[in-house]
Amino acid sequence: MHVNNEMKVEFLSKSSNESFARVAVAAFVSQMDPTVEELADIKTAVSEAVTNSIIHGYENTMGYVVVTCRIIGDTVEIIVEDKGKGIENIELARQPLYTSRPELERSGMGFTVMETFMDEVEVESEVNKGTRVRMIKKINGSR
Ligand code: ATP
Ligand code: MG
Repeated sequence: MHVNNEMKVEFLSKSSNESFARVAVAAFVSQMDPTVEELADIKTAVSEAVTNSIIHGYENTMGYVVVTCRIIGDTVEIIVEDKGKGIENIELARQPLYTSRPELERSGMGFTVMETFMDEVEVESEVNKGTRVRMIKKINGSR
């Protein structure tokens, strides 16, 4: 597969870095001439995935979140990875309204939001090893 461009950012799992990740991805994807709406969709999806790594993956510990962004033709691939606690039951975790942290007033809609705004969402996870979320979206732009 031919990769036209790629970037990778790595940052500590502090909630203040969620907006950094969102903006970094948006700035990189801008070279594809996305519409305002496409860019907003990507930022929302990245925000959900990164927040999950920070809040659930690392909980009260600190670790690194890695975001990789690849442009392959008119498609963007975004991978959000953590080496946190992992997900026991991925199928359950992906269900709308499922949250393991209702006490934090989470709504359990993060994965549903990612699926709504991206064309493909793939989740790989291993307990005590970490989680990898791979999202793909075709950018049509205003052409
Ligand atoms: P919301 O995103 O609406 O605030 P939420 O984060 O609980 O609530 P989802 O984002 O859909 O909802 O995630 C569902 C569940 O999957 C989480 O409650 C958590 O148990 C688990 N999960 C998601 N991402 C990770 C991750 N990176 N590491 C460990 N567990 C995760
Ligand atoms: Mg979430």
